[in-house]
Amino acid sequence: MLVAYMPKTQTRQTLCPECGAPVKEPYKTWELIAPFPDKKMRITATIFGMYECPKCGEKFKGVVSKVKMGSEGIEL
Ligand SMILES: [Zn+2]
Repeated sequence: MLVAYMPKTQTRQTLCPECGAPVKEPYKTWELIAPFPDKKMRITATIFGMYECPKCGEKFKGVVSKVKMGSEGIEL
C-alpha cells in the first residue's frame, strides 16, 4: 500500500462518496461567485468541480477551492 505525503499547501483530497477511492482532478469545473461581499468587503468565489471516480465510475460534485477577492488582493 502506498502512503501519500501531501504538501501542506495542497488542498484536501477528494474521495469518492461511493467507494472512498481518491479522485485526483475534476473533469469539469465552474465558478460560483457570491453576489454580496462579506464584512471585510471581499467577494468569495467558490470553484466547484465534477469528479468521476476512476475505480467505480461514480460521478459526483465537489468543492475544488474557495477564493476570496478583496481590495487587498486575492486570498486563497
Ligand atoms: Zn468510487
